[in-house]
Amino acid sequence: MTTLAVHNPATGAKITDLPADNAVSVAARAAAARAAQPAWAATPLATRKACITQFRAGVVRDLEQLAATMTRETGKPIKMSRNELNGLLGRIDFFLEEIELSVATETVYDEGGMTEQIQHTPLGVVANISAWNYPWFVGCNVIIPALLTGNAVLYKPSEYAAMTGLEIARLLHEAGVPRDVMACLIGTGEVGTALLAQQIDGVFFTGSVATGRKIAQAVSGKFIKLQLELGGKDPTYVADDADPKAAAESLADGAMYNTGQSCCSVERIYVHEAIHDAFVQHFVDTVKGFAAGDPMSDGTYIGAITRAPQLDVLDAQVADAKARGATLLAGGARGAGPGNWYQPTVFSNVNHTMELMKEESFGPIIGIQKVSGDAEAVQLMNDTHYGLTAGVYTRDEARAQRILEKVNAGSVYWNCCDRVSPRLPWSGVGDSGVGLTLSTYGIDTFTRPKAWHLRQAG
Ligand code: NAD
Repeated sequence: MTTLAVHNPATGAKITDLPADNAVSVAARAAAARAAQPAWAATPLATRKACITQFRAGVVRDLEQLAATMTRETGKPIKMSRNELNGLLGRIDFFLEEIELSVATETVYDEGGMTEQIQHTPLGVVANISAWNYPWFVGCNVIIPALLTGNAVLYKPSEYAAMTGLEIARLLHEAGVPRDVMACLIGTGEVGTALLAQQIDGVFFTGSVATGRKIAQAVSGKFIKLQLELGGKDPTYVADDADPKAAAESLADGAMYNTGQSCCSVERIYVHEAIHDAFVQHFVDTVKGFAAGDPMSDGTYIGAITRAPQLDVLDAQVADAKARGATLLAGGARGAGPGNWYQPTVFSNVNHTMELMKEESFGPIIGIQKVSGDAEAVQLMNDTHYGLTAGVYTRDEARAQRILEKVNAGSVYWNCCDRVSPRLPWSGVGDSGVGLTLSTYGIDTFTRPKAWHLRQAG
């Protein structure tokens, strides 16, 4: 039997060997999903909603255990695991509140015996290939609306969050979602590749740009719905009228929360020269106050780096920044093992020749660059091939509006950062991806609008 070894990134110790999928089992699960989907789509919406309500109750009931599982396999600090699960409840509530209106058939014309309607039919069988950094969020952003709209889901959690993936499936099955309608496929990228070879009606992917490209190529001839939620190099500008202390505290959290392993982590900071030095001082003070350590401990803020290879990326960015003249103000090296650890790292005197300011770090490191004003800040914020989020800190709302209108990003923030709302669409431009999740658009995306032309017999 094929197995997947799961390790604790905070200690390096093996947690378990999970039974894994292979090309044959993936094909069987896909065929079963295809066979089961029509009956699920024909199940009354009230029954599908009841299943998701029951799933929500299961999350609440098992929250401590689910948080501990996520922390053990990803190294996420336990408080942040609890935050993610509690945040998930609000997302589920949003989907449950909106689903009826979203799938209701719309009559758009009704005159002279002619009626025109739009029906929201499920896509069919959808693949959800997912990342590990917020496994409940990114998994359920797809799974919940896809199931509510009548799709079957073939879910491939990340190999770094596979135990969490199995927990999501377990709770859905316990809540009444048929096993063949919601399948969890365990394995590495090879299982993802096998999944893409099946007859599927949509691919919803969260992960890196490199894998996103492979997925786009793999399904290019299938003419199916493709959504890619990819990385970012998210910038924030702190204007001269901002409170340097408040902005620094907020942005240090935005850069280092989840040990910097968020798609919408603040990854570049531009600060007006008038308040640059004060901001940097407060930022470094805040970062130095972050407690690193056992992710299972309530007091821990900086946890482990989930994927060991990312340590090499962080080392390379640090070495490149130093070589190009950046000033190291905190950290700058791996933490002591065993396990995967990196010190919270802050650089000033950075510029766009440095990898640190160009490519996603996905770790607890940040560059702070001095700018002369709004125009330079906007030019630098847009100097990227990504476009997930961008923000500005200023007391002046009109100024924020002017700046954010010019910024190319899926989400923009005024005096806040690293924030996702179930009510707003989550999307990126450029290499940050195509398509979206969340909001009512993130429900519609799992349906196909079918046009009905109905003429009464004369
Ligand atoms: P990854 O690309 O390494 O893996 C993502 C998933 O793809 C995993 O399940 C993996 O097994 C699978 N996979 C790998 N190769 C494959 C292949 N050839 N075919 C099919 N599937 C394959 O990404 P990751 O390390 O899990 O996630 C980190 C990345 O995700 C970061 O870049 C982060 O910014 C991004 N992310 C984006 C969002 C967003 O909403 N935009 C949210 C979370 C994470």
